[in-house]
Amino acid sequence: MTRLTQHQNYSQVIQEINCQFGAQKVVVYLDYNASAPIRPEVADSINLAINRCGNPSSIHEAGRIARQEVEKARAAVASLVSGNSRSVTFTSGATEANNQILVGTAEKNQSIDVIITSSIEHPSLLIPATTASIPCRLVPVGNEGTIDLNVLADLLAQHEGRALVSIMWANNETGVIQPIEEAAELAHRFGALFHSDAAQAVGKIPVDMARTGVDALSISAHKLGGATGVGAVVVRPGIDLKPLIRGGGQENRLRAGTENVPGIVGFGTAAALAKSDIVESSSISSLRNRMEAAISSIGGGDITVHGKRSPRLPNTSCISTRLIRSETQVIALDLAGCAVSSGAACSSGKVERSHVLTSMGLPESKVKTAIRISLGWGTTQEDVDQLVGAWSKMYRRVVHSSAA
Ligand code: PMP
Repeated sequence: MTRLTQHQNYSQVIQEINCQFGAQKVVVYLDYNASAPIRPEVADSINLAINRCGNPSSIHEAGRIARQEVEKARAAVASLVSGNSRSVTFTSGATEANNQILVGTAEKNQSIDVIITSSIEHPSLLIPATTASIPCRLVPVGNEGTIDLNVLADLLAQHEGRALVSIMWANNETGVIQPIEEAAELAHRFGALFHSDAAQAVGKIPVDMARTGVDALSISAHKLGGATGVGAVVVRPGIDLKPLIRGGGQENRLRAGTENVPGIVGFGTAAALAKSDIVESSSISSLRNRMEAAISSIGGGDITVHGKRSPRLPNTSCISTRLIRSETQVIALDLAGCAVSSGAACSSGKVERSHVLTSMGLPESKVKTAIRISLGWGTTQEDVDQLVGAWSKMYRRVVHSSAA
């Protein structure tokens, strides 16, 4: 299936949904980092799984079929990250995977007495890390959004053989890719365990556990075209993962509760599709780069593209526009039919100031005016043109009214 056909399918699905609810049609969806549209093939596989009954722990045939489906998905997820399928534990998403590593494993491991993480992690990592019963030390980032490896080395030297290091693979707001291989190598040199929250990286860039030597990884299905509410923690063989949720013996006694079979099946389909699609990331990055160039040429010195000089995910753009607050831009673009998000976190309906941009040392004026535009498997040149057109109209209106 070509990308264009996938996009048409997605548009049709959205139109049908909007007709049902009588809502305004979403024309252009550019918020893939929040949640990527479900791929049609994934929706089909979930639909098949929902209509089959069977608990993977049952020994009758229906149970055995469900088990086979779960194991097939486990192999696809492992293969996407060059991990070992026996070391994939399905969870309810990356939030649970992060908590399993920090609360389930680090806090209970007698030989770990400090968590070292970065100041730009997602709240699902940062909050359990900073409220854990063991101390947490934060590694700062520079103004282009990458972690300071010298500080990491100093902290590791102070806690030799006793640390769990957790550094995200790529940041959800700026798309900046962290020096994971170097950080993992440093962690191992000082006898630490190395975990990475790869929720935004997996499916967008190659993530190879074997090559980078990462000990544990968190993944989320809905960031790569799967359903919400399913994810995984993947560890290297021999890593002593501990359960966070206790009860039955599912997931090799590492995660109690009947498996979310349809979600897991869809995750497997999304992982297999993402594996073959990573090669297309150059077409996404050229769309993104053309979009940034167009916005920069309209806004000139009013525009800052955050993390531009660092390696970035091919799909993500975090842009500040002098004069226009993030929420105002998001609402104006929404009214023009374009879905983007503010650079800041918004999980409780309230927009909070971005701790990521603040950690990068940006002035308040840039933090308050940042929006995140994130592209994905269904994005076309027309989508980007429409966004640029809507953005330019909004910008010109504000510039003219402030000059009047
Ligand atoms: N980590 C990162 C980097 C994320 O971007 C997200 C989702 N915004 C999460 C973790 C949480 O993932 P989930 O929604 O699967 O719990």
